Order: sequence, then C-alpha cells, then structure tokens
Amino acid sequence: MSVFSSVAPSAGVVSFEVARRLVERHSLSVCPRAVETVDLLAGLGRVLAEGIVADRDFPPFARATRDGYAVRAADLAEVPVQLELAGEVKAGEWPEPGLCTVGCGQAVGIMTGAPLPPGADAVVMAENTSLTDHAVEVRRRVGVGENFVSRGTEALAGQLLLDRGRRLDHTGVAIAASVGKSRVEVFRKPRVGVLSTGDEVVEIDATPGPAQIRNSNSYSLAAQVQNAGGEAVRLPIAPDERGRLRALIEQALIEEGLGCDLLLLTGGVSMGKYDLVEQVLSELMADFYFTGAEIQPGRPVVFGSCGEGVLASADGHDSAADGEFAAGTQAGAPAPRRKYFFGLPGNPVSTMVTFELFARPMIEALAGMTPRPLIFLRARLKSEIRTKTGLKRFLPAVLSGQFENAEVELARWQGSGDIASLARANCYLVIPPERQRIEAGEWVPLLMRTG
Ligand code: AMP
Ligand code: MG
Repeated sequence: MSVFSSVAPSAGVVSFEVARRLVERHSLSVCPRAVETVDLLAGLGRVLAEGIVADRDFPPFARATRDGYAVRAADLAEVPVQLELAGEVKAGEWPEPGLCTVGCGQAVGIMTGAPLPPGADAVVMAENTSLTDHAVEVRRRVGVGENFVSRGTEALAGQLLLDRGRRLDHTGVAIAASVGKSRVEVFRKPRVGVLSTGDEVVEIDATPGPAQIRNSNSYSLAAQVQNAGGEAVRLPIAPDERGRLRALIEQALIEEGLGCDLLLLTGGVSMGKYDLVEQVLSELMADFYFTGAEIQPGRPVVFGSCGEGVLASADGHDSAADGEFAAGTQAGAPAPRRKYFFGLPGNPVSTMVTFELFARPMIEALAGMTPRPLIFLRARLKSEIRTKTGLKRFLPAVLSGQFENAEVELARWQGSGDIASLARANCYLVIPPERQRIEAGEWVPLLMRTG
C-alpha cells in the first residue's frame, strides 16, 4: 500500500501535472492477471511476459558487411598492389581452413553476410579493386577491422535482448525471430469496461430521434483501449437514472463473468442536474483521487477506485484468496483487489483527449508494461493564437511542413463535440495556462496523437 500512502488524497480539481502523476503512481500498484503463449506474429502489439535472450553470439561469426575481398590490411601498405586470388566465400558457406585461408599477399573473394576466412583482418570493397587472371589489383588501403563485424559484438550468447514488459513491435518480432522464438509468452490483455451514460445516447444502429445522438464514445474508447493493448468490454448505455446507472457500474466493477480490470465511464461527470456518475460511485464507497483537472477539453475528468472491502462484500468473495492478482504478484503479498475507474466527460473530443492523457497509462500497466511517458515535441507555430488563461489546453492541431521544417497550426474546430476536427488533426497543440497570446513563429509544445 506504499503507493497510496505517499499520494495525498487529492480529490478535487488538480493541475494537469498532478493529475497525470496521480495516475502514474496508482498504475504502479496494478499488474496483469495471467500469461499465455502465442505464435510470434500473434504476439505483435502484445506485452512480453518473458525476456528474450540471445541463443548464440550475434553475429555468430565475423561477418562481411561488403562485397569484395578478404585481405590482410598490412598487405595494402602501398597501393595499388596485386594480390593472389586464393578462393571465394559465399554467404552461407563456411570457409574451411586450408581450403580458403588468406595468406601473405593473398585475397579471398567474399560476399556480404559471409564469414571472414582465416588469416584475413579486413575486407576491401569490390569497387576499389579490379580482377585480372588469378590476381586482384587493390587501389585503396583498408584498416584492420574494416568492412566486417566481429563475432559477438552485437550481443553475446545468453544476453538479454528484450525485457519482460516490452510491447512487441516489428523490431521486437525481428529479435524474437532471430533467436528462434516462434512462440512467445505474453501477458493476457486487460479487460476494460466501457460504459456510456446519457438519456440522449442511443446505440449506433438505432435511428436517433430528433434530440438523440449515437453512442460514438463507446466505439472510440473501445478503439483506443485496443490500441493501448487492452480488450474493450462494451456495456449497455446507462440512462441518467440512479438505479440503473448503479446497477451497470456494479456489474462492470464486480461481475466475475465480465472480468473487467478497469472501468471507463463517459458522460455524467459535469455539473448538470442529471450528471450522476460521481454520486453513484460515492454510494459505492469509491475513493476519488481527482474530480477534475485544469485542462481543456476534459476539465470534469474523474479518477478513482473502488476498494477491496466494498467489492469483496458486494460479490461475496475474499479478495486476497481468489487469486485474481496471482500473476506478477510477489508470493505472500497479494495486491489489493482494487478496481480503478475513470469518469471521462461525454463530449467526444474530451473523451478521446482525457483517455490519451490519463487512462492510457493505467491500461499499459494492467497490460504488463511500464507506462510510456507523454513526450512533448516542439514545432513552430504557423499562425497567431489568442486564448483565455487558466487551463492547460490540448487543442486539435495539424503538424505539417517539408522535411525538417515542421510547422503546427490549430485545426478548425467548433469545440469539444467536434469529432471531425480531431480526425483532421494529427496532434494536440499544448497551450500553457498562463498564455493569452502566442505569436506566429514561436516554438510551441505539442503532443502527437497515438493510433
Ligand atoms: P455529458 O458529459 O454527459 O454532459 O455529455 C456532454 C455531451 O457529450 C452530450 O451533450 C452529448 O452531446 C455528448 N455525448 C455524451 N455521451 C456521448 C456518447 N456516448 N457518444 C457521443 N457523444 C456523447
Ligand atoms: Mg450526460
């Protein structure tokens, strides 16, 4: 519980930085539930539950990096020089000593990827030679060690190449393949409940009434969850009615069959008369870590958890004994069965931004990764911005420009409901809370949009 004791009970509206740090700290207390073994390519995007180790030296032999001739560098002290051609090694062939050795005044033809023959200490590129009958004329000197990679210089047998907890991308797949891992152990994906709330919200295949809107949030969130390495469990839409909302939240947090590790709610967290999410979660004895962040869009975002006791008594389970946190937990110290939730604002852009800023690290941690830090880049602002002070803004923006000359400008947008604006954007321009005016040409921070 050390994580919690060092985190102040900061329910209330906090700065962006405090909110982000609170999520990061809490994400240290969660871990994935189980491990499975999958085919290597099915492991793409999954998080390794095992370290990947070099099964032999890399490269496994001194490997030529150029087509040309294996030589003794000392023979090229004066160029041009004629060397006797003593053989050839192709990639995939092993140069047998005696048959293919580079002696004084000799050269052996060699192809990229072939092992350096005995006696050689450098490779001269074919471009710097010409071939005559049984002799090679070399026109350029090479130093010892040039144009080949010595055995074991990339990695030694037994060396850890990929850490447990690393999400497999194509480079990780290449490493696993190179050490012969056709199957890999990965963590089971966390299951993330997605619960949209609102009397006006209808399913996407329904014909909306004049004042209704389709439930796009459940889908955008499910997509973001998948992108972050989780598995989304889309729940039915909850109306703005206390009883039904509570039943659905309880179901998501408690029902073993659903097996949700985290709950994302959308809507119902603002100040309106029918914004009931916080009230209902309070009735369920939730702990709140923040109930708003000084950001725009997304100010009403809520982060909290339902504690061990409440969940255990509600579903009649002993949390410490049910083994749910077995994987990755130290023996004798089971992690508390604490389920985290985020209440994200219902406006679609706010939902997507707050997911990116706050929910993603928790999903990454539940998936077995060390959450990735937010990386802020900088680019030159294309045209002046005027805004109000007080909130840190993450506004949809377009990063463009030729080659190294990156420029950024705000995407046209009509506010937090404007999904099309975010779809046109490829990043968020970040405006510090104290800035009222930013001139064209200034270097401004931005955050790339993932997915
Ligand atoms: P709320 O945060 O509940 O006040 O919702 C703010 C606005 O977000 C609503 O007026 C809707 O226009 C929109 N909204 C709420 N829930 C959804 C949803 N599930 N899908 C799309 N838009 C939504
Ligand atoms: Mg609502």
